[in-house]
Amino acid sequence: MTAKIKPLKDENVGRFVNNGRARQKEFNRRVKDAAWGKFSSVLGHKCLKNGIRFIQVPPEHTTTTCFKCGHKSEDNVLKDVFTCVNCLHQAHIDLNAAQNTSKLGEKMFHELFVVKV
Ligand SMILES: [Zn+2]
Repeated sequence: MTAKIKPLKDENVGRFVNNGRARQKEFNRRVKDAAWGKFSSVLGHKCLKNGIRFIQVPPEHTTTTCFKCGHKSEDNVLKDVFTCVNCLHQAHIDLNAAQNTSKLGEKMFHELFVVKV
């Protein structure tokens, strides 16, 4: 369903021709987005049905933001290692992103559900 299309070379001309790869790539992206959308929708419904609060956290900048000091930069990421150029905090890129997501989720939870006195 989301297989990669191989390059198509025209042997007579000696160059590559349009094989619809860009179109297929866009289609694959939409299929994957739809799958996550469906998963999220079902999970939200199940949580609601069982009295569990469900919060969706926007993923933007979670991989490039330092969990410790909050500094945001593309320079913080090198392959799968996160190293903050501001405070030198180091972690695996996925761990740092997960911690940022968790922190943001807690913040959103407090803003939405915790009553301020
Ligand atoms: Zn930092």
